[in-house]
Amino acid sequence: MDRIVTYSPAYTIVPTYECFNRCAYCNFRTDPGQDEWLPLTVARDRLQAIQNTGVIEILILSGEVHPDSPRRAAWFEHIYQLCQLALSLGFLPHTNAGPLTFAEMARLKTVNASLGLMLEQVTPRLLTTVHRHAPSKAPEKRLEQLAWAGELGIPFTTGVLLGIGETIAERRESLAAIAAIHERWGHIQEVILQPHRQGHTQTWVGPDLEPRDFIQIIADARQILPPSITIQVPPNLLPDPTFLIACLEAGARDLGGLGPKDEVNPDYPHPSVPDLQTQLAAAGWQLLPRLPVYPQYALGVSPADWILPVALISKLGSRPISNLNLPPATGPSTTPSSPFDSPADCAPTPAPKFPTVIRATPATPEYGEYSRPRS
Ligand code: SF4
Repeated sequence: MDRIVTYSPAYTIVPTYECFNRCAYCNFRTDPGQDEWLPLTVARDRLQAIQNTGVIEILILSGEVHPDSPRRAAWFEHIYQLCQLALSLGFLPHTNAGPLTFAEMARLKTVNASLGLMLEQVTPRLLTTVHRHAPSKAPEKRLEQLAWAGELGIPFTTGVLLGIGETIAERRESLAAIAAIHERWGHIQEVILQPHRQGHTQTWVGPDLEPRDFIQIIADARQILPPSITIQVPPNLLPDPTFLIACLEAGARDLGGLGPKDEVNPDYPHPSVPDLQTQLAAAGWQLLPRLPVYPQYALGVSPADWILPVALISKLGSRPISNLNLPPATGPSTTPSSPFDSPADCAPTPAPKFPTVIRATPATPEYGEYSRPRS
């Protein structure tokens, strides 16, 4: 059966909801200093409670501490320790904590199966609307993060948020920018197409993305992105199961991490996996679990091609991978010509030439720098 759609059995740990950005569509954040950081002891209790329940991925999802804040180092160390904790209990971490310095990203690589960061949209126009008070959403900074992940050989998840004021042409520009970076490093494993849906705590009141437009952008994405990049859609943000089938027919092949709660969209709970399996099976689709790192980066290649840190490889080795029925990567090539064949390839390389659609954005006074070393 080749009509396969995947999901990641996941559980989300939130180190802190505090965030120095104020995206107008956010239903997650609290103001800096208003949220206590999750104690490691509490995280341990939660993770131990879900051991042996089928959960594989621990999504470490954090609000952002300003890059110049004196609390930044402690915040990052806390995230690192949460990843270590998850690994020690047999899980595979996937962290999305906003933009990182080059050194932070390199360090998180050693304790994560993959990392993630939404590109959102590349148009700088949004810095005057929904991202007006969200300096870390500057498009060139997000693109730089994607490029750094490529330089470091990190399997990466990114995506676009749709229906926040961008035009149809700008959506395509965002996808083209992702494709261009992937063409350089080959590290983007999946792209999330996330439709805007109104949440009850966000400050911006905007319409939900038109279903017709969502199907169109899935089809566009399948044309713009290379076949080795899987297209992910969040089933809890879709109008109904029939629509999910239409998304698959248009080119989507993954439903993302499914767990008890969507922390980013708390108004829209995830459907249960058994319900999804039933609905999909009725339309001829098989729903299968996957790891938070895609098989072309972790499986079916010679040991010399492993790109994951040794600690993570041993974790993967202890998993019943053969029982997961992992599908091959979408598209004709499951083994990209890897840019990660030797440690030397992890050295910083010149920044990519971004597509000309990426326009310079004005400096924002409240914005700090996510530095990278000169070496
Ligand atoms: S969407 Fe993310 S970056 Fe923006 S305010 Fe919310 S938590 Fe912060």
